[in-house]
Amino acid sequence: MGGSAPLDRSVIEQIVRGIVGSQVSDVLRSPSSGTCPCKAAKSSSEAPKPEAPKLVVSISARHVHLSDADVETLFGKGYKLTPMKELYQKGFFAAKETVMVVGPERRRMLPTVRILGPTRKQSQVELAFTDTISLGITAPVRQSGKLAGTPGCVLVGPAGVVELREGVIRAERHAHMNPEETKFYGVKDGDRMNLRIDSPCPMLFEGVLVREDPAVRLEVHLDTDEGNASDIDHASKIELFK
Ligand SMILES: [Zn+2]
Repeated sequence: MGGSAPLDRSVIEQIVRGIVGSQVSDVLRSPSSGTCPCKAAKSSSEAPKPEAPKLVVSISARHVHLSDADVETLFGKGYKLTPMKELYQKGFFAAKETVMVVGPERRRMLPTVRILGPTRKQSQVELAFTDTISLGITAPVRQSGKLAGTPGCVLVGPAGVVELREGVIRAERHAHMNPEETKFYGVKDGDRMNLRIDSPCPMLFEGVLVREDPAVRLEVHLDTDEGNASDIDHASKIELFK
C-alpha cells in the first residue's frame, strides 16, 4: 500500500504520459475552481435587531494549495504563481496555473487541478468524494491544514514532479466568520452549525464547522458534491443557524 518508495522521475513521467494518452480529460466543471458565490442572504423576514451579515455560500471545486518549495519544483526555480481570479476572501486567489494530480498505483489522474494562492507552509490537495473515486484514492474528511495521517499523491507540473507523502483530503464543510459574525450567530470557533438550502433538491447540511478569523468575512464552503446534491445553483433560500 502506498509506501514512500522513492519514485524515479523519469518513471513517473513515463507513467503519466501513458495515463494521459488513455484518459480523456476529466470534464472541468468550473475551470477557475474557487468560488461560485451564490449569494443567498434573503435576510430572514422578521428583520433581526443587529443587521444580519450577508450569507455567501461558495462551492470549492477540487484544488491544490502549494508550498513555495513545491511551486519551484513544479514550475521552475524562482517561479511565482500568477493570480487569475480573486476569491471572496481578501488576499486569496485562483492561480492561472494548474497541476496534474496522480493517484495511488500511478494509474489514474486528474489532469488540470487549479492551484489556489497564496502559497502555504505545506502543500495540500482538496477533493470532493467523486474526485477521490476518479483518482482511486481514499481521502478522509479533514479541516484544512490538519493533514497528519492523510494519504499522499504525486503532483506533476511543467518543470517537475512532487511526491506528497500526505495532504490529500476532502475538506470538511465549514463557515468562515469574523468575531462580529460569530457574535451575531451566538457561536464560537469550532462550533457546529446547520445550513438549510431550499432548492429543487432541498437539503439540510449539519455539522458545518465554524472557523473564526478576524481577517475574513462570512462565507460557507461546500465542495462540488455537496453543492450539486443540493442544487445550490437554483436555491431560492439559504439559512445558516445553530
Ligand atoms: Zn474555506
